[in-house]
Amino acid sequence: MSRFTRFSLLFLVFLGGAFSLFISVVHFAQGAGIISNEHNWRSLLKDLIFADSPATAKLKVRRSIRPRAIVVLDAGHGGTDGGTVAGSSLEKDLNMKVVHLVAEQLRNERVRVVYTRQGDVTQSLRNRVAVANGYPEALFVSIHHNASTSEKPEGFETFYTHPKPSSVLKAQRNIFGVKKGGRFIDRRGELLASAIQASSCEVTQAVDRGIKNGSMALTRLVSCPAVLVECGFLSNARERGRLKDSNYRTKLSTGISGGIIAFLESVEHESSYGVESEREVQARDGGDVTRKRKQSL
Ligand SMILES: [Zn+2]
Repeated sequence: MSRFTRFSLLFLVFLGGAFSLFISVVHFAQGAGIISNEHNWRSLLKDLIFADSPATAKLKVRRSIRPRAIVVLDAGHGGTDGGTVAGSSLEKDLNMKVVHLVAEQLRNERVRVVYTRQGDVTQSLRNRVAVANGYPEALFVSIHHNASTSEKPEGFETFYTHPKPSSVLKAQRNIFGVKKGGRFIDRRGELLASAIQASSCEVTQAVDRGIKNGSMALTRLVSCPAVLVECGFLSNARERGRLKDSNYRTKLSTGISGGIIAFLESVEHESSYGVESEREVQARDGGDVTRKRKQSL
């Protein structure tokens, strides 16, 4: 074997190694949510070679803005649990349609999306909570459609739970690195609910039923900021017509994802957005934390 052949062979082996390392790094970055799944190794390689392309510039900016944003999306019901029934439409299917649109819009903003159910499968509340609690730094949004025994009620509403049970507070204490006995107030669920409610009602012009402090299992037991969205009443003929219309559904999901993005932007601005130590709250409200808490319930 001539020296040149040996050198060429070694060079080829080196190239192969470098290439597989590059692909592994891309896969890792996708897994960690640093880059979206839309960026495959081909597009990234192209971006690296043509360093000044607009795609590269955009990617760099996104990476520095939102490196770890994860949203857990929960399509309510599923499988044997159809949820509310409206003629031929089952709530579980409408929920999934909205979830897919919201997911698409979030991915366009380089947010990583995790689902609690994929496809039409039965999923217990316990499992949904377990999936969400696997991502303590995420946001959790459960999508539902409402119904009432009366045909009258209509509109959009968002639920959150405050305060959360002590088991969840204990988990949060670890996440925030708060010492044992150290007290803090977490209003992120309420703030996320407000952002989604405002954005959705603005885009859809639906009746604004406001945000509500409820005690449903999902918003109560999920440790990250968790909300449950009721997109509208399938029991109201007029609203049902809108909720089954794909154009309205696009507006609905634009409103929901817009609220999520607005919340994420507030967190980017201030990493402790919505979380305060009891001392901070006392200093701000003149010492009466108890009264402040009761007012919000
Ligand atoms: Zn439901």
